[in-house]
Amino acid sequence: MNPFSYARPTETGTAIKTQAKESQAFFLAGGTNLIDLMKMGVVNPSTLIDINRLPLKGIEPHAGGLRLGALATNSEVADHPAVLKDYPLLSLAFNAGASPQLRNMATVGGNLMQRTRCSYFFDLTMPCNKREPGSGCGAIDGINRMHALFGASDKCIAVNPSDMSVALAALDATVRVRGGAGERAIPFHEFHRLPGDQPELDNTLRKGELITAVDLPPAVFTKNVYYLKVRDRTSYAFALVSVAAALDLDTAGRIRDVRLAMGGVAHKPWRLYKAEDFLKHKAATAENFRAAAAIAMEGAKAYRYNQFKLRLAPNTILEALTKAAGTNTPS
Ligand SMILES: Cc1cc2nc3c(=O)[nH]c(=O)nc-3n(C[C@H](O)[C@H](O)[C@H](O)COP(=O)(O)OP(=O)(O)OC[C@H]3O[C@@H](n4cnc5c(N)ncnc54)[C@H](O)[C@@H]3O)c2cc1C
Ligand code: SF4
Repeated sequence: MNPFSYARPTETGTAIKTQAKESQAFFLAGGTNLIDLMKMGVVNPSTLIDINRLPLKGIEPHAGGLRLGALATNSEVADHPAVLKDYPLLSLAFNAGASPQLRNMATVGGNLMQRTRCSYFFDLTMPCNKREPGSGCGAIDGINRMHALFGASDKCIAVNPSDMSVALAALDATVRVRGGAGERAIPFHEFHRLPGDQPELDNTLRKGELITAVDLPPAVFTKNVYYLKVRDRTSYAFALVSVAAALDLDTAGRIRDVRLAMGGVAHKPWRLYKAEDFLKHKAATAENFRAAAAIAMEGAKAYRYNQFKLRLAPNTILEALTKAAGTNTPS
């Protein structure tokens, strides 16, 4: 047992100041990730700043869209009437993650910040550049079945495990944060980062910054959406590959707008911009969906044990788009 201090501030400013002061001070939200990491010795906080008394739980209309407080739980967001009506993709993604018990505890902010599930990251006897910079990467020549196809580096090939974040990437959400220097808004695609030479950094949050909310833009994709998560078992398990697909179709079945993002394939939720551009203003047909999936896979690089993802990923894109369009099984 490592000793640590515990604080439970009621003011956001106090929480931020306390965290900024110590290099190993961590915010504690639902605790479903952080406490596990502490038990395994992967992180050893000097101070836990329990943020559950801060007023960050609300889910409310904002600027034509919806603001999700950082402390709203995964279940509260997934079941919220405005989310079910206007952002059904997000609800589907939440409900594909973890278990009901975990979703009742896990928060929006904690979900954004959850660490990778690379097994070497959790194994203190193995090298891991993310856990201990400069120690090496156990996964590159190890069992890398769950690992990345896109955007990896020679320092780290881990993937981001969050289902929620795949939907938020597709929906172009914004992460609102507050630190000593004030507030800032981070476009979702800039929040998580690729590993590069600093795999220890999962995201662009600065020391002393607290996530206060996630903003969803005005709703567009209210109908033709699907979140398809392929995993080893249907009980709780992390994605091998997941796809968030959202289509805005006109009455003739042509695609006015489309959003596509993948999970389980990169260090950050992986937006499929080129495939989206290909699909815009085309008919929602299996042929076009298949071509988009092929475009999405350009530049994919597999490792020894995750070669199967090279076929699984485009098939998952095709299936998700087909389900989103409300058409039958792809032919
Ligand atoms: C058995 C199991 C199965 C799971 N399966 C899935 C799954 O299938 N899909 C999925 O997406 N997730 C899954 N999860 C992960 C789960 O979603 C995360 O553990 C959860 O979302 C973390 O939220 P939390 O509030 O508990 O965070 P905490 O554990 O409290 O915190 C996690 C991290 O976030 C930081 N943090 C928390 N709030 C803030 C804030 N407001 N600002 C800045 N930093 C903050 C903390 O300091 C900490 O570093 C699973 C977890 C478990 C244990
Ligand atoms: S892939 Fe990343 S998290 Fe996994 S062992 Fe390598 S450096 Fe660590």
